This record gives sequence, C-alpha cells and structure tokens, in this order.
Amino acid sequence: MDKIFVMNLGTTSFKFKLYAFDDTQPLVLAAGELESIGAASSAYEITYPDGRSHKDHAPICDHGAAFAHCFCILQQDGILRDLDDLTAVGYKAVHGGNLSGTCLVDDALMAEMERVTPFAPAHNPIYLNAMRHIRSRFPKLTQVARFETSFHGSIPENRVTYGVPYAWKEEAGIRRYGFHGSSHQYISQTVAKLQPGARKIVNCHLGGSSSICAILDGKSVATSMGATLQSGLFNNNRVGDFEVFCLKPVMEHYGYSLDEALQILSKQSGLLGLSGVSNDLRQVMEAADAGNTQAQLAVDTLCDNILGYIGMYAAYLNGLDALVFTGGIGTNSHVLRQKVCENLGYLGLRLDAERNLRRDDGIISSDQSKVTVWRLKTDEESVVAACVYDFLHQ
Ligand code: AMP
Repeated sequence: MDKIFVMNLGTTSFKFKLYAFDDTQPLVLAAGELESIGAASSAYEITYPDGRSHKDHAPICDHGAAFAHCFCILQQDGILRDLDDLTAVGYKAVHGGNLSGTCLVDDALMAEMERVTPFAPAHNPIYLNAMRHIRSRFPKLTQVARFETSFHGSIPENRVTYGVPYAWKEEAGIRRYGFHGSSHQYISQTVAKLQPGARKIVNCHLGGSSSICAILDGKSVATSMGATLQSGLFNNNRVGDFEVFCLKPVMEHYGYSLDEALQILSKQSGLLGLSGVSNDLRQVMEAADAGNTQAQLAVDTLCDNILGYIGMYAAYLNGLDALVFTGGIGTNSHVLRQKVCENLGYLGLRLDAERNLRRDDGIISSDQSKVTVWRLKTDEESVVAACVYDFLHQ
C-alpha cells in the first residue's frame, strides 16, 4: 500500500496529511499542524481519523525538523513503520515557472523554482528550504511537487497574455500563471460528481488568500490571479488588481522605496488597509455593523470585486451552470454570499435565504434558480496526494 505525506507550508507553519492508497479510495491516516517554526517552542497537533490526537510543544528549527518530528510521532503511534513505509512526500508547491503539473523534486526543479522566486517571494523560498532540509536529512526519500499553477494550463493563450511587449512573455515569463490550482481542481471534480450536467462553473475560493476560476468542462479557462499571487481579487491584506502607474506618485508622496511600496501593497492593503480594522472579514464586518464607514467600504469593495469577476467569467463561459463558494470566507460567511448573489438575478440565479445559512456542504440556491449555487469545503491536499500517486504510477 502506498503512503503519501502531503505538505502545505507557510513561513512558520507546517500542515500535513498522510494518505494511504489502495485500489479504491485514498484514506487519510493522519493530519497535523505545527506552528511557530524557528521559535523557542512550536505548538503542534496531530489527529487521527479515530478521534485520537497528539498535542504538545517542541523546539522545531526548520521545516525539515518539522517533518522529522511529525514522522517520529507517526512512528511512535504505529502509523508509519519506518522510512521505507513512506512512498513519497508531496508538496503543494506554488510557482514552478516553466514547470507545471506534478514533477520529481530534483536539482533542475529547484533551480527553476529559484529562478521564479521573484514571482512568488513569500512562498517559493519556504518550499525550497523544506525540500533541501528534507533531502539532506532523508536523502533516499522521494519528493514530488504538485504546482498550484497546474490546473490553469488549459487557459487560452489570449487570456494568459498581458498587453506588454511580446518579447517579455518569452524572455522574462511575464504572463498569467494563476494559483490555487489544487482547490479549483478539487471543486471542479466535486461538482462533476454532484451536478453531472454542469459544464460552466465559477469557483470562488475566498479565504486568507483568494482567487476565482472559470471552469468549462472540467478545465480552467480563466483565473483571477496572474503572474504573481498579488494580482486579481482584493485579498485580506493584498491589494489585488492595482493601477501600476500609481506606484511612482505614491513613492514620491510618501518617500517610499519601491520595496517599501510593494510591501505595503502586499501586506497592509486589501481588507486590512482599507478598513484600518483587521485582515479578518469577521472583524471588519463587525466594525461595519457598528457603524464604521471605512470598514463598510472595505466589505462593499470586496463584494463588488467578487461580483465583477463572476460577471466577467459568466461572459467568458457564455452562461453559468454552477457557482461555488469555498475557502474560509466562502464557506463561513453567509452574509458575503448573500451580498454577492443578490446582484446575480440577471443570470436567473436565486439564492435560498434559509439554505444559505447551512454550515455543511450543499446547495444554497432555490429550486427555481437557473444557476445552482454551492457551499463546498475544499480539499487541496487530497488533489496533491492523488496527483503524486498518479505520477508515481504512470
Ligand atoms: P482560509 O485561508 O481559507 O482558511 O480562510 C481563513 C479566513 O476565513 C480568515 O482569515 C477569515 O477572514 C475568514 N473567515 C472565517 N470564518 C469567517 C466568517 N464566519 N465570516 C467571514 N470570514 C470568515
């Protein structure tokens, strides 16, 4: 039986799911989360499907040490026998530049990820570090990367091309790549099972990081993120789409360097920058309800932004069969879903107010709606695990 350990990494966080594959369905054997890597003590929790859990603290210096620590606990708990019991580790890797799909982690892959680090400066270095640390501690372990850009390889060329000098695309890789591919792929596959006739889908992945994807016959045909994760939708603390010619006046007005201005656009903008309250939509909505007009503007701008993308993608798809809300915001905020959907009546879309309050997965539109609206939890790790499994068995 193949066992695949899937990793989803943040600057100081480490999340994993361990899958076992037999001939039928992949099975989750364990899931875990470790925080504050590099601090004196990192809190971690590992849970098992039978309800058991392992919660503690340990000093964890890097992502390689995080993997080693979780591996040890899985061994102690009888989930993994030894390193040979693990078929591979799989990464939900972010930007692979010219590499896409599922690839073996080797020197060439790491060099390509390094080359495109300027396009994903907050993500690629974390994955590269983890790959290097794990390779040096466990040289025999097979490492496989599934890039977040992969699902978007089917977007037509005219939609991944910017209006820049043609040579920039070929020579400098200035084009749209798109991200959150595992989530959009998961939703596409799930809707194919739940609503088999749905050909035209828009998936709104709204969470700590957000993007929208237009899906036709199971393939991505448009997505809101671009060459980097910074563009597209207005995010929790990222600007999203922005007039590039404002950079110079902003830098002159405030005396910022280019790096300082970019830092503000990527870390202190979006919901946080506009509301001045928080990067968490829950708190911004609370402030708005209490009369904070800046917070209200931030909520309205986010909803309007989402609405605009849905309209654009309904046009690209020439209609809409299904609209999906996923991610922390998409699944939890019935208020946001309501605000967005109340402007989509022109598509024949009718939200059902009562169904919209549901806390589990399912339909939230009325029976009369021409577009089926879904609230669905995403599962990115399962897509990475399945891709790694297929890659190793192709
Ligand atoms: P994710 O990155 O997909 O885990 O989403 C996390 C984000 O979901 C948090 O930053 C919150 O802003 C947002 N969130 C979670 N619950 C709610 C809710 N009830 N209303 C609005 N936003 C929420």
